[in-house]
Amino acid sequence: MKFIITLCLCIQSFFGVSQLFQPKKAYTRQDTLRGSITPERAWWNLQYYHLSVKIQPNDSTISGNNLITYKVLKPAQTIQIDLQNPMQITKVEQDGQSLNYKRDGNAFFVELQKKQVVGKTESIKVFYEGKPRIARRPPWDGGFSWKKDSEGNWFITTSCQGLGASVWWPCKDHMYDEADSMLISITVPKKLQDISNGRLLRVIDNPDDTRTFDWFVSNPINNYGVNINIGNYVHFSEKYKGLKGDLDCNYYVLPEDLEKAKVQFKQVPMMLKAFEHWFGPYPFYEDGYKLVQVSYLGMEHQSSVTYGNKFANGYLGRDLSGTGWGLKWDFIIVHESGHEWFANNITDKDIADMWIHESFTNYSESLFTEYHFGKEAGAAYVRGCRKLIGNQEPIIGDYEVNESGSGDMYYKGGNMLHTIRQIIDNDEKWRQILVGLNKVFYHQTVDTKQIENYISKKAGINLSKVFDQYLRNTKIPTLEYKVENGGITYRWTTCIDGFSMPIKIENAKGKYQFIQPSTEWKSLKGVTELKIDENFYVNVKKD
Ligand SMILES: [Zn+2]
Repeated sequence: MKFIITLCLCIQSFFGVSQLFQPKKAYTRQDTLRGSITPERAWWNLQYYHLSVKIQPNDSTISGNNLITYKVLKPAQTIQIDLQNPMQITKVEQDGQSLNYKRDGNAFFVELQKKQVVGKTESIKVFYEGKPRIARRPPWDGGFSWKKDSEGNWFITTSCQGLGASVWWPCKDHMYDEADSMLISITVPKKLQDISNGRLLRVIDNPDDTRTFDWFVSNPINNYGVNINIGNYVHFSEKYKGLKGDLDCNYYVLPEDLEKAKVQFKQVPMMLKAFEHWFGPYPFYEDGYKLVQVSYLGMEHQSSVTYGNKFANGYLGRDLSGTGWGLKWDFIIVHESGHEWFANNITDKDIADMWIHESFTNYSESLFTEYHFGKEAGAAYVRGCRKLIGNQEPIIGDYEVNESGSGDMYYKGGNMLHTIRQIIDNDEKWRQILVGLNKVFYHQTVDTKQIENYISKKAGINLSKVFDQYLRNTKIPTLEYKVENGGITYRWTTCIDGFSMPIKIENAKGKYQFIQPSTEWKSLKGVTELKIDENFYVNVKKD
């Protein structure tokens, strides 16, 4: 049930913590082919995709091709392209010449005839067709969703986080390497529209009663972010005056929901205001921002965030934090758009490090709340989400097998970040760290150590033990203390070896001060009761 713990959004509220007790599956060769940088992937750097797909709703089939442009990094003659069963590759060409290939499950190994010269840019064209997997529970268990709207028009969407884009199109299906730009050409029955990522370049009328929508993405894009949304959409738009000038915001919804959308989507400028403050400029001004209605809950598709939260505040009308603050805003607008900074701008190289997407984006909900409703509101929200933490499996998953860690990457990760903010104890410095991450790792794929080291360096505090404790261990540190000799003695327990973390306590004068507990006993005079700042996510135990 890998998909349940890999995906965006708030899985635990659906499935309960019991999912976390499931045994880990044994990994297969297919997991390695999908999740590792195989020799047949490592030698080439992906540069550009032109994906052309014809959608045939009447028999739920698709067919098309993907032109894959890459730069040769090392000498090699075999290239790996991924496409999942039951989809079929029908032909692969380089310079018009047909190539041999062999299939190994969901991976295809193509033998290149032309000598691949280091430093040269080359292309292959992969033709494919089939009946793509139908999404069972989008967006968590994805694929194609062939739905109809209330007027009987087709309403077709894709979602593939975790599962991978190769469920519906042939690609280099690994997070570490992104296309630097992409053209997406989608052909649909004439009365429908396709809304994909980036900007609409043109619409071509074809003689066979179809139309082709050409969408161009001018920035690096992760595979799972590529999406198609086909329906009888109506459109409205606005320009947001942001940090990098005018940002085009385009909204696509079904006609029956237009009036509701016009009210609910007023939260988009509020979201942009808060997140540009905390994280810096929206990372894809060139491609614009879109919010596109879909038949499932939503997903962080880059520059075309999908939306299915029923035009109401909360998470399908509920407040995940239980504090009331989660009902002040639309969870999908805030959370999925937060991923434009953490997931789409800064992307993990391996989904084992998916906390980089979900922990920061979970914390973005708190930061949005803080920006619009005050600091205590934001803090109450993140603390309120603690009841959703399982502490059964580490946040970081297994590497090189396309396996993310536990669902604690959301609420526990958010609380870890909130705790680190308390340690730093300087809100402007904290904000500069968040802005700095989005600047230094702009449009990059990263691993967890890059993020951890950057935060430690900018904080001026070695936080490596804190990250190890919260990301790689299931135990929550306990501040154990005894009252004796007119003061207290204290230490950290239920923690990793060598754990030390400063914590803020209330002293006898009712003022807050920092103490520096380690796993060794230390003492503090003049304090007879230990009251910690509740913003630290720790346990306290009096002996
Ligand atoms: Zn998410």
